[in-house]
Amino acid sequence: MNKSQDVILPGATLGVLGGGQLGRMFVQKAQSMGYFTAVLDPDATSPAGLVSHHHIRTGYEDAQGLAEIARLCAAITTEFENVPAAALELLAQTRRVSPAGSSVAIAQDRAAEKAHFVACGVPVAPHAVIETPEQLAAVPAHLLPGILKTARMGYDGKGQARVQTAAELAAAWQDLGRVPCVLEKMLPLAHECSVIVARAQDGSSVHLPVQRNLHRGGILAVTEVHEENLPPAQAQQALEAAKSVADGLQYVGVLCVEFFVLQDGSLVVNEIAPRPHNSGHYSQDACDVSQFELQLRCMTGLPLVQPRLHSPTIMLNLLGDLWFAQGDAPLTPAWERVLALPGCHLHLYGKRDAKRGRKMGHLNVTGATPAAVRATALKAAAILGIAPF
Ligand code: ATP
Ligand code: MG
Repeated sequence: MNKSQDVILPGATLGVLGGGQLGRMFVQKAQSMGYFTAVLDPDATSPAGLVSHHHIRTGYEDAQGLAEIARLCAAITTEFENVPAAALELLAQTRRVSPAGSSVAIAQDRAAEKAHFVACGVPVAPHAVIETPEQLAAVPAHLLPGILKTARMGYDGKGQARVQTAAELAAAWQDLGRVPCVLEKMLPLAHECSVIVARAQDGSSVHLPVQRNLHRGGILAVTEVHEENLPPAQAQQALEAAKSVADGLQYVGVLCVEFFVLQDGSLVVNEIAPRPHNSGHYSQDACDVSQFELQLRCMTGLPLVQPRLHSPTIMLNLLGDLWFAQGDAPLTPAWERVLALPGCHLHLYGKRDAKRGRKMGHLNVTGATPAAVRATALKAAAILGIAPF
């Protein structure tokens, strides 16, 4: 079969590296469209492994596991960026793989990622790479106060330390194990936004509307999407920047580009995720094509059509905290009360144990107007114990 041109039609088997909730929602979408699925993840109870036709339970570097997913699947994607780029490159020798290992390798490393943004002419936060004591000593004073972030393996605000002074910076680097880091200047944020771009093999691309995001404690809490969620010029600038970043990578697949909007209205790119993203989950219920269908269309070579937002929407993340009453007693959230509200769409990931800060699911709220969606989302938040926004 011609690896790069043929369209992979329903009936074929599609593979995903990683068994988390993003993999689960991809698998569910693929199955609804008549594909078979295979998930590679070592965890026997992984959210995606539980619902997939095939579950290969090995590590991401296991030669037999990789050979098995290649044997089963016509095309393979990934659901998290810490899959070794070498595994993707190995699979790409015989199967269609998107995104490419080279794109994932850049997204895995904050320093490489920042260098890519600069090369694309997209504004980034003032920053310095810290890999040696000499680089630590040479950090310019104007980068403080700042946030020290490990170059690799960070997520949901993990591997980060906020530092005010050079002494705090030195101590934080020590605490992080003196691994390669990036120090970013602490910026005065007005808000945050993100864009999901889907780019095909032929370089054409489509995108979801710009998402406005609220983070709490370094974790996404709320995403709001409708025509008035951002000034149009700002939204346009974010879309163009996201497209430049995807084009610069010659990216194939779904890419999320996260931005900071500063208090003076200017836009700074924060980071990219080489996969569907938590801030794109609203597309499942508020758009005619979801981010998971875009992922499938990119990997199979099916046509990309521009998604349309048909309802204003708010997504609330459902963290494990909602499963605990005061005093840490276990609690079952009152789903029946939430689902009595109009336009509430519940998504749970099938994780057995709730832990504080763990992403257990999300609630997409849709409605006729932004004001109606907001009113419903605030009621749902109050029922569930999510702070108002
Ligand atoms: P994830 O991968 O889950 O998005 P992460 O661990 O990679 O998160 P970042 O996106 O770098 O972390 O940062 C998490 C949050 O911390 C941001 O969304 C933002 O709210 C805040 N933050 C990060 N960097 C800065 C900065 N330079 N100035 C101000 N706030 C920042
Ligand atoms: Mg982030």
